[in-house]
Amino acid sequence: MKITEDIHLVKCPLQSIFTGVYVVLGDRISLFDAGMPASPESTIFPYLKSLGRDPSEISLVIASHGHDDHFGGIKTIKEKSGAIVAAHTDDAAYIEDPTKLWIDLNRRFPAYHLKPTADELSEGEKMGVKVDRLLEDGMIVDLGTFKARVVHAPGHTKGSICLYDEERKIIFTGDSVQGRGTVLQSGPLIYGELDEYLGSMERLKSLDLDTMLLDHEYLPMNSAVLGRVEALKILEESIKCVGEISKFILDKINSSHMAEFFYLVDEVKALHGANPASMSPCSIVDAVLKSLEKRQLIKRSGLDRWIRAP
Ligand SMILES: [Zn+2]
Ligand SMILES: [Zn+2]
Repeated sequence: MKITEDIHLVKCPLQSIFTGVYVVLGDRISLFDAGMPASPESTIFPYLKSLGRDPSEISLVIASHGHDDHFGGIKTIKEKSGAIVAAHTDDAAYIEDPTKLWIDLNRRFPAYHLKPTADELSEGEKMGVKVDRLLEDGMIVDLGTFKARVVHAPGHTKGSICLYDEERKIIFTGDSVQGRGTVLQSGPLIYGELDEYLGSMERLKSLDLDTMLLDHEYLPMNSAVLGRVEALKILEESIKCVGEISKFILDKINSSHMAEFFYLVDEVKALHGANPASMSPCSIVDAVLKSLEKRQLIKRSGLDRWIRAP
């Protein structure tokens, strides 16, 4: 799908949704994200070929963050083209070792046995790819037809980044802006810190934006390509949504003698509708609890129990 002359969106199917891969077509080809391990052969390469371009022309792949629905395809692309791989310093380790995310999550939430555990990943899924270039906030990246500024937007993950084309006021946000989550999620996924996420949304709001390019269709919008009004709306919805979840969790704790982590996760899941395919919202519940604790609104009482602050 053509967005501008040089920027195209390739939609890589992911269950009932898609992961967006943004292709920048110049003398050479640059990619923002690469979909899942199968995406290059099934979707990205055929798309490039339909335009008369060859996958070997890809010279740069920038990973928005360390989730394998975005970096999974990089390995195949690198093998085919020798492209340079770039990602933020804080997420590079997850791209170099895809088992790290699941090891981290299962360590953080042991009772949930989050799938897949590291042992359940196939050999192919365990294979990471070396990050050649570490990115930091403010760095300028040359995508061939334009130069973009790296905007570090932690929250969804610690090392989530956006790319900002200041001249055309276009921003590529990956999964940094979660809105109300996708239809596969129970609300937004915040693997990092809630306050960092809110800070990132405020920072993005301060940018002059005509176009926002997301990697998934985040609710309440029904497109991954947003104009000026919609971009502002999803940033505001992102802030509103975590505010609502925070209030919901605080109310639950205040109105009960003591609230267990499991109970709060189930309640948040129910709040967003019982989608059997939805991912567990334990990361956002954990992020909210940490933020409420820091603001001294709640207190830990035992390992996984919370009470209102006296
Ligand atoms: Zn993600
Ligand atoms: Zn994603």
